[in-house]
Amino acid sequence: MFNLVIFGPPGAGKGTQSAKIIDEFNLAHISTGDMFRMHISQNTELGLKVKELLAEGILVPDSVTINMLEEEVNSKPDVAGFIFDGFPRTVKQAQALDEFLTEKGAKIDLVLQLEVTEEEIKKRIAERQKVSGRADDDASKLIKRIDEYFQKTVHVLPYYEQQGKLVKVKGIGDIEEIYAHISKEIAAFF
Ligand code: AMP
Repeated sequence: MFNLVIFGPPGAGKGTQSAKIIDEFNLAHISTGDMFRMHISQNTELGLKVKELLAEGILVPDSVTINMLEEEVNSKPDVAGFIFDGFPRTVKQAQALDEFLTEKGAKIDLVLQLEVTEEEIKKRIAERQKVSGRADDDASKLIKRIDEYFQKTVHVLPYYEQQGKLVKVKGIGDIEEIYAHISKEIAAFF
């Protein structure tokens, strides 16, 4: 089993690069953001609970997020591995994921950090909002999401760095060039 975390601030290109990884490597993609949006669009109990938080760009509480993620992983027992996209976003989530995978005799093998500047993120999200229609892509909400990233999520990086799993990838430039770098890093595990 090979498990990858794709890491970066909103607008870093995690979704775009994940789609390419799935095409080349036989991994299941888990995006907690996509999962929450699906629950919201289907008006599930969980959806109703998290709707306001997503609209405001605030992180969903760890316990809720961890439970949802673990259920999703458990529902796919036969896959060759996972790409975790948008998870973990706190050190508590990273620790919970490690414990959960250890129980299954698995682990996180690689953490790819997409490096982008704040200026680039703002530019990209403004473009994305024109097509995504995501309320949290609005400039005023994006400020909160970037704030959450720097307050809570960046601390996940030293957590994985200490484990020797962190690899930084330049996230600005040609999408194919960025992917070529990513693909090489992953291929080293196969
Ligand atoms: P994303 O699509 O990854 O940008 O996530 C959109 C929103 O979903 C975030 O702004 C949070 O409100 C929520 N969310 C997604 N993943 C997580 C997570 N791992 N922990 C807490 N909240 C999350």
